[in-house]
Amino acid sequence: MSNTTRLVKKGEVYMDKLQWAKWFVEHGYAVFPVSQESKSSIIKGWQRYSTTSLTEEEKTQYLDMIANGYNYAVPGGQHNLVVLDFEDRELVKEWIGETTLNEICAKMFCVNTPHGGMHIYVISDDIPDKKFNPVFTKDNKRIADLQSFNSYVVGVGSCINHEKCKSSKCTLERPKHNYMLYPI
Ligand SMILES: [Zn+2]
Repeated sequence: MSNTTRLVKKGEVYMDKLQWAKWFVEHGYAVFPVSQESKSSIIKGWQRYSTTSLTEEEKTQYLDMIANGYNYAVPGGQHNLVVLDFEDRELVKEWIGETTLNEICAKMFCVNTPHGGMHIYVISDDIPDKKFNPVFTKDNKRIADLQSFNSYVVGVGSCINHEKCKSSKCTLERPKHNYMLYPI
């Protein structure tokens, strides 16, 4: 993946969930609502948004739902966007080093995720035509997935309620309140 472009310029990062969803829509990206406090899709046929823009009606309907509490998803594939979905930020640091990680996040849009992982949004002139789960492993451990066509990540600004969370990574030590996906 050569010739990458940063999705979001630094400085554009102080936004809430609805503002973020609008940001994507205004920049031509299709986003769609996912269930409140989790990441399950509630829109049938959402896979079409990897290749099809939102209609004006969908824009209004979806942004209304997000304004009313739904989380939202960003599908890969559209506008040459893929998202590297890392399970564990600390493992990435160990693997490539903190300096390299900082360099990557200066060049690409990076988002912290609620269970200690991270998303790296990559726009490249050359992206794979499907997702890879996993795309990287180390010592037989899954390090990252790559979300491309027909897959999505929960969008920046979305909230997860750990009291209703079914993730095996949701440890008891973790505070049981809403936890957001926020930019690094
Ligand atoms: Zn959790």
